[in-house]
Amino acid sequence: MQSPPQIIRHGLVLRPEEDSVDRKDILVIDGRIAEVGQPGMAAPPDAILVDASDQLIHPGLVNGHTHGHGHYSRGLTDDITLELILAAGPWFAGHRTHEDKYLSTAIGAAEMVLKGCTACYDMFMELPTPTLDGLTAAGQAYTDIGMRAVIAPMVADYPFFRAIPGLYEALPAPLQKEIDGSGAPGGEDILKRLAEIARAWPFAQDRIALAMGPTIPLLCTDAFMKGCVSIAREHGLMIQSHLSESKVQEIAAQRRYGMSLTAHLDRLDILGPDLSAAHGVWLGDEDMARLGDAGASVVLNTGSNMRLGSGLPHMRRLLDKGVNVGIGTDASSCSDNQNMYEAMRLAAYVSHVYDNDYRQWVSSQEAAQAATEGSAQALGMPNIGKVAAGYYADLVFLDLSWIHYMPLRNALNQFVQAEDSTGVLHVMIDGKWVVRERKLVNFDLAHLRPKVRAAIDRIDTLTATNRAVFRQMQPIVGTYCAGLACEAHHVHRFAGMPGRE
Ligand SMILES: [Zn+2]
Repeated sequence: MQSPPQIIRHGLVLRPEEDSVDRKDILVIDGRIAEVGQPGMAAPPDAILVDASDQLIHPGLVNGHTHGHGHYSRGLTDDITLELILAAGPWFAGHRTHEDKYLSTAIGAAEMVLKGCTACYDMFMELPTPTLDGLTAAGQAYTDIGMRAVIAPMVADYPFFRAIPGLYEALPAPLQKEIDGSGAPGGEDILKRLAEIARAWPFAQDRIALAMGPTIPLLCTDAFMKGCVSIAREHGLMIQSHLSESKVQEIAAQRRYGMSLTAHLDRLDILGPDLSAAHGVWLGDEDMARLGDAGASVVLNTGSNMRLGSGLPHMRRLLDKGVNVGIGTDASSCSDNQNMYEAMRLAAYVSHVYDNDYRQWVSSQEAAQAATEGSAQALGMPNIGKVAAGYYADLVFLDLSWIHYMPLRNALNQFVQAEDSTGVLHVMIDGKWVVRERKLVNFDLAHLRPKVRAAIDRIDTLTATNRAVFRQMQPIVGTYCAGLACEAHHVHRFAGMPGRE
């Protein structure tokens, strides 16, 4: 059923791509922005009036990288690196029912829309292997809350402990036995399943899109990586992979492939506009140029990189090399909220740490554009991320009477530097209200809480052994990988520790 047109009047409209903030009216018809015009512009007589006086309207933030399964693991640790989080997989993500997959995704989706984010790229992990029902449950959670999403089943066919050179051998025999007994499915089975999922995907691609998520190149054999990409290209799907996230990964790549991870993907003919690389912290200049030339995207997750000690991403250099840059939060298990305002601010601020030449800093305009249009490009959704005619009406209404805008001096700067989501008043997706007066319209959070509590109690019991195994591994994996990260490498992304480079 079509809803009547809406005319949004008297709002201050922020358009990062034009570096502009002006008072405009916005006409919304059938979920899309039909026109952005001068205040008082003509509108159809049956249009519903939305008074946006004293509100700053911005294109919905787009979270370029998160994990729907990760929200159950929020707050579990404060002492893990990326490699440790990978070793903790069975503890963090094991024993999930499809209901759990729905609930976990709903937690993140609810947080994102309440915090001004209208679309996300979700690398969703199911153990031991992806299922249509599990991914559908995740997609249903986004649908119920009213959010747009790209869901990429996160897959691998090469064991983590073998992918890091010498790590398996560093473990004592009983722990090696634990790992050997995990019984992960083979790559061919997973590819078969992914192809079936692509054929049977039940959602519209512009609302809940399917993508392919070969998780980390080191954790994929070449044949598997190419298999995932060929399914994506056959079905017109986007591809996301964690690329060059930690120094350990690049050191491992040099040993295994004799080249950087990006050069390895280039050799496999995987770089293209359909690829988004999550993180890209340890990309060298040549890698960045390769990605830029191929039209690929890099999605920065600065909060996660800081939390896991992965290093500081270099957005200025990525932009200089012509790479499309998006911004993400990463999982709630590692960064730890789903606040895109914070992710956007960190992406800008970290550039100030790299260089005290302010001309090299990432501007508010660049950060805002990356968190909207840049991420939208990574999602493969060209009709979101801007307040412009033809785009979906995915709009966030900030309260200009909120303390962040007192005094209102430069709305774009204050949007990036001061907003922390507490100014979010309303959120519209596809022209429909998803958040009104700071509350979810379609979803009862109070109802979610007891279900999540009961689920977590059940899962914590079932994963108690996995947790114990992880805690035995932690000092070995942690110190072994920290040792690898001491090796010399031509890219430098740790702050203030020259002795470790
Ligand atoms: Zn991630």
